[in-house]
Amino acid sequence: MLGWRVLLDKLPTKTNLLVRGVQLQHSLCELCRAHEENAKHLFFSCKVSQMVWNMCDRWLGVSTVHHVKAKSNFQHFHLYDLNSRQNLVWKGMWLAIIGEIWKHRNGIIFNHRKVDPREIFDQAQVAAWVWMKHKIPAMTFSYSDWYLSPHTCLKFMWFDNCVFSVIGKQTWRGIVKMRCTCAKAKVTKMQDSTYHI
Ligand SMILES: [Zn+2]
Repeated sequence: MLGWRVLLDKLPTKTNLLVRGVQLQHSLCELCRAHEENAKHLFFSCKVSQMVWNMCDRWLGVSTVHHVKAKSNFQHFHLYDLNSRQNLVWKGMWLAIIGEIWKHRNGIIFNHRKVDPREIFDQAQVAAWVWMKHKIPAMTFSYSDWYLSPHTCLKFMWFDNCVFSVIGKQTWRGIVKMRCTCAKAKVTKMQDSTYHI
């Protein structure tokens, strides 16, 4: 899996290929053409990759420090008001960004594509949503929900094996307060929809 290979620096980056004796025309990063290409630079410290991570921050409405070491970057890709399972889903966005940076870099080398950080980020948003849709069948939000309110989607997400127990009486508006086992979070059931709150 690409994420693991980045964390272990096992991708065939130009620096890694040179170490193995592979002849290359040049060893510069394809995104900026200003530094040697290694995993740390390509994914985290390259000015183009940093633009992508900053787009992700702006999308979420947060401001974070972006670590240039893969493991630290992965560990700090974390939202403090989400529970551990919701944060695991959020890590899917980290993997999507990594995957799209790598794809974009290959597209420049093999298909002469132009460098476009916006395209990398747009593709990562789609890839993360498709991944969630595939992994979490109970996920009900649409791509436009995800695009417009990613934080709300993550916060209100629940899982197939969630067990809800009622902790209050139904009110006149049809709202039932419940507790969910996945995060001991309170949830609200209103007509046919259930929300973590
Ligand atoms: Zn670069």
